[in-house]
Amino acid sequence: MPDTYQALPGQPTSLWLATTPTTDLPTLQAGLTVDVAIVGGGIAGLTAATLLKAQGKRVAVLEADRIVEGVTGYTTAKVTSLHTLIYDYLIDHFGEEKARAYGNANQTAIELIASLVKDKAIDCDFIRTEAYTYTDAESDLDKIRAEVKAALKLDLPAAFVQETPLPFPVKGAIRFSNQAQFHPRKYLLALARDIPGDGCYIFERTTVTDVAEGDPCVVTTEHGKLSAHAVIIASHYPFNDKTLFAPRLTPHRSYVLAVQLNEPVMRGMFITPDSAHTMRSQPTAEGDLLLVGGEGHKAGQGGDTVARYQRIEAWARENFKVQTVKYRWSTQDNGTLDRVPYVGRYTPISHNVYVATGFGGWGMTNSTAAAMILCDLIVGRENPWAELYDPNRVNLTSVPELVKQGVDVAKHFVVDRLPEATPAELEPGDGKIVRTDAGDFAMYKAEDGAITALSPACTHMGCFVQWNPAEKSWDCPCHGSRFATDGRVIQGPAIKDLEQIDVNQQGVVE
Ligand SMILES: Cc1cc2nc3c(=O)[nH]c(=O)nc-3n(C[C@H](O)[C@H](O)[C@H](O)COP(=O)(O)OP(=O)(O)OC[C@H]3O[C@@H](n4cnc5c(N)ncnc54)[C@H](O)[C@@H]3O)c2cc1C
Repeated sequence: MPDTYQALPGQPTSLWLATTPTTDLPTLQAGLTVDVAIVGGGIAGLTAATLLKAQGKRVAVLEADRIVEGVTGYTTAKVTSLHTLIYDYLIDHFGEEKARAYGNANQTAIELIASLVKDKAIDCDFIRTEAYTYTDAESDLDKIRAEVKAALKLDLPAAFVQETPLPFPVKGAIRFSNQAQFHPRKYLLALARDIPGDGCYIFERTTVTDVAEGDPCVVTTEHGKLSAHAVIIASHYPFNDKTLFAPRLTPHRSYVLAVQLNEPVMRGMFITPDSAHTMRSQPTAEGDLLLVGGEGHKAGQGGDTVARYQRIEAWARENFKVQTVKYRWSTQDNGTLDRVPYVGRYTPISHNVYVATGFGGWGMTNSTAAAMILCDLIVGRENPWAELYDPNRVNLTSVPELVKQGVDVAKHFVVDRLPEATPAELEPGDGKIVRTDAGDFAMYKAEDGAITALSPACTHMGCFVQWNPAEKSWDCPCHGSRFATDGRVIQGPAIKDLEQIDVNQQGVVE
């Protein structure tokens, strides 16, 4: 089988990473004490650090790798409170008051981002624009109309429209006005520049391995310990969690292409009700590009992920005059059982440890709202959205989702343990779970024939990892941890690498 990965068009990186410099910040100086330690340098962690520093708190952001190279480095960065279709659902499941709180939190987040951009004069391609959830299926129209009605009831800037800037007709759409888009790394690298100083720090290449709650809390990292009066876990998936969040979070992965068109790129941000297609424009030095994405699936369960990129490209070519594909990337975000993120005290009995996760594909505004909630909780102010986002909320309507997630994990725990091949069947560029006399391994054969064998059991909770051919990674189908071909952790919740096994060129254990 040829290595189809090589045939995919575009550079295999995000537009955001390709057009900004990488950071090189110091690792932790052990023995420090700060007011707030923040685990994770994505949009949630850096926004919280910015707000807390503005309140006079001494903060330390601890980032396992480089800041804004996690999920936030691979987003599509629509800054909107139109989250596909959510308000009709929220009114139904939470009541009008909480649905209003959700809309208000996300609208306020847009305005906070706008004011940070203005006050700090951040050059990050921030543009006010409209967001649309559109359909070309008659059968979706009732859902769209119900969403418009719900959004208007909550005083959100909604309208039902049948004309959009898209170059193809739609049956109908909900449009939110005065939303925004930006370049997420330009925005966040600018926020990050203002964090160090006055007792505040950002440490990179500093993986947090443990947080012990107390007064102070003790944060353990690979480079020693740090003390903090409060800790925020903003590591996307709460790192190393096995019991509290694992049954309640579902990571979903999806795919994006940045393409150059032979026609002007339309204004606005677009998504279909099932998130099958998502689009927006982005200005670049080479002219406007169209970001087009979709093909979502539960993380670690993507099957032929190369074909997913190919289907997006085919769809883009059918609907737009595509000249060339410039970049391709994919990433994953966590959904919660009831579609509202988990933001607040880590456990019902936590006093000083907080979490922000489960942004459900809408983390630009939800993480910014999360930072506002956590800042208020830490400085001792009331927050009008805290109850809705409380990670320890009891919501009985979530029970069927909880059961579904448990069944899915159990299924993958058992079924994925069946080997797929023998070492001799591995093609160059391919990875598989293989059976050998010494046991089953996750084996990858590089283009030059060199074989790397790893223990296939995810270091988070032991599910067998699955090969992701498009990204050349081993992905866990249970909780979404990802590992490079040499076993290194690329994405949590795992914090420990997969063990490498010594094998010879035939894949025989030595
Ligand atoms: C394809 C796709 C498109 C999307 N598009 C949009 C969009 O248009 N609009 C929108 O609002 N949202 C969008 N989202 C969602 C949004 O991108 C995410 O919700 C958001 O980026 C998550 O930010 P974060 O800070 O929680 O995570 P991250 O950006 O992943 O940051 C977490 C950081 O924690 C670090 N970390 C992890 N473990 C440790 C540890 N043990 N010690 C120290 N550091 C650690 C990681 O290295 C990482 O840098 C999209 C999501 C996907 C999948």
